Amino acid sequence: MPEIIPLNPTEKPDTNASEAFQPGTCKLHPQSMCPAFGALRVLSRIEGAQPAMITDTGCLYGLTFVTHFYAARKSIVAPALGTAELSSGKIQEAANAAIAEAAREPNVSMIPVISLCVAETAGLAEELLPTEVNGKPVILVRVPAYAIHSHPEAKDVALAAVLKRFINTDAEAGIEEKSIVLLGEVFPADPLIIDGVLRKMGARVLVTLPGRHVDELRLAGRGTAVAALHPFYRESLACMRAHGAAVVGGAPIGADGSAAWLRAVGAALELDDDLVEQVAAEEEQQARDFLAAQPLKGATVLVSGYEGSEMLYARLLIEAGAHVPYVSTSIGASMFTASDEAWLKARGTEAVIYRKSLEDDVQALDHWQFDLVIGTTTVAAYAKERGLPAIYYTNMLSVRPFFMSSGMIASIGIAQEMLNRTSIYAQMLDFFKE
Ligand code: SF4
Repeated sequence: MPEIIPLNPTEKPDTNASEAFQPGTCKLHPQSMCPAFGALRVLSRIEGAQPAMITDTGCLYGLTFVTHFYAARKSIVAPALGTAELSSGKIQEAANAAIAEAAREPNVSMIPVISLCVAETAGLAEELLPTEVNGKPVILVRVPAYAIHSHPEAKDVALAAVLKRFINTDAEAGIEEKSIVLLGEVFPADPLIIDGVLRKMGARVLVTLPGRHVDELRLAGRGTAVAALHPFYRESLACMRAHGAAVVGGAPIGADGSAAWLRAVGAALELDDDLVEQVAAEEEQQARDFLAAQPLKGATVLVSGYEGSEMLYARLLIEAGAHVPYVSTSIGASMFTASDEAWLKARGTEAVIYRKSLEDDVQALDHWQFDLVIGTTTVAAYAKERGLPAIYYTNMLSVRPFFMSSGMIASIGIAQEMLNRTSIYAQMLDFFKE
């Protein structure tokens, strides 16, 4: 771990732009909560889903705690698996008993079986699990941390698993023409904003997943096209594509991104070209009118998080005039992250770090002179020790719209507010030095 030396803002580290940034070499420290939390969060929020979690008591304690912290409002059914049970090879029986118990809970419509590191290592066999109990579908969701490295990606694995089971169940109802399925846990206003713009082009949002009800998974099977608002929904996109939905790439982010996305939706849904162009141009103009003032001009910002949407937020900041030399994220690189990475690097971002570690972020704090740090709790704490305005990425973004021009305006506003508080952070540093 690099030594942390609190600095006065007027004594920021020298940045040598000619030296390339070197990511941290030590990545042994815990970097985030257990990735399986993402899966548990998505599944426990679906009304009627009764998760059965197959793991040992240590994982169970931590994951149950954090799930209830995030207001799951339901119990997690799990077998008591300690060393004795695991070493005696009883995991299959224990899993089946937990599934039977989950099926006895009131108002259950499906049972996701969440298999974690211990169960996967001990060899939980899918073919020995029931596919349904008392007419209630049983769906295996494999999310061991050694294979699923971040909690956003575990959300995708969980969504894909349940989507596969339900996507064909409404097939006789037919495809909803000119409709799109959105993938992404977003601020509630975002799908409404996107739907409002799409309706001007003659299209509409059919449903946004991960949803809150099994019926939304069924409905998704009737969409003409699908778009992932966050770039880590790879398995869910593959599932929708295999079902026959057209895939729209990218996300409606900022001035450039929103217009390009609307045109891509127009092509995927075969909408009227002139109408699409008119709406895309209007949307872009609205964004550019706001950006003309370049509200973040002159600010150098660090963006780091484990949500998987960090590059999207960095794009907004750059369009608003900020310099964002460093962006790090917990998700892995893929064909769905490539265009955002290329966009950022063409506009001054020197380092885009996938599968980030805290050490990478601390190295970045040493390497560049930042005016604002938007990062994980730990990185924000380090930045505050240096007298820099800093904010926790997740809390900042989950409470405001993000997409299209109106989402962009709301999200950039928080960065402006934080920069206006720079002197307060300097005072705080002075206060604790005295
Ligand atoms: S052992 Fe695996 S499932 Fe359990 S808490 Fe650790 S990462 Fe999560």
